Amino acid sequence: MNDKFWFIVISIVLLIVYAVDYKLDKANSIEEDLLKTIKSRGYLIVGVKTDTRPFGYLENGKNVGFDIDIAKYIAKDILHDQNKIKFVQVTPSNRLYFLNVEKVDMVIATMTMSPERSAIISFSKPYFVAGQAVLVRAGSPIKTLADLNDKNVGVLYGSTAEKNIRMLMPSVNVLGYKTYNDAYNALKAGRIAAITSDDTILRHYALTDGSVKLLPKRYTRELYAIGVRKEPESKSLLKIVNINVTNMVNDGTLTSLKRKWKLN
Ligand code: GLU
Repeated sequence: MNDKFWFIVISIVLLIVYAVDYKLDKANSIEEDLLKTIKSRGYLIVGVKTDTRPFGYLENGKNVGFDIDIAKYIAKDILHDQNKIKFVQVTPSNRLYFLNVEKVDMVIATMTMSPERSAIISFSKPYFVAGQAVLVRAGSPIKTLADLNDKNVGVLYGSTAEKNIRMLMPSVNVLGYKTYNDAYNALKAGRIAAITSDDTILRHYALTDGSVKLLPKRYTRELYAIGVRKEPESKSLLKIVNINVTNMVNDGTLTSLKRKWKLN
């Protein structure tokens, strides 16, 4: 009886010890660390834009742009080869989802860090500053947001501009688009009076098409940062991403990339 009692007690204690040990092991497990997973996989998976010149777009089927060069800098550091990247196309409306369902390791896609988004994902240090602006047809009488009263205004679904315009001008009729090209075509066809988004993104249209113009006023400060998952397994990745952002500032890479992509 006594023997049986002690056998049961010792078995229970051992079970608890094994369970705690297993949990601790799992928490520290190398498989769970995303940075180590990336290194053993041999390539980064990065969510980027494909319709946003000059940050992320396609040229002869290849991903190119300012954000793409940043991804390459990070791949060179982590994997010693700037081409060890699988690019996945993201839009403002799906990039947080793609990150959180683990379709991508990180997002480098003209993404503004905001308190709402910070509740869902983690952001690196910022690497670029843009500002919300308004693009209209060249002959348009619209000069500021106030002139958009009761007019149709195009935004990208899920963008900061979508939220901001509703706050700044509740009287406008906001129409959402999935891509910049869709919004641009709607503007050209007269279905909307303006597009509002980041100046650096809209500027491309004003520079390449004389029939549209960018209004001079900026309504926000958009700090672009790299997004990673909030989970503990992304912690070491975030750390190395931040080291890379700091290095890109200190070694002049960001300045020369801005020059390369005419972002000054
Ligand atoms: N930077 C803005 C945002 O994060 C909009 C630009 C975009 O990603 O298309 O919402």
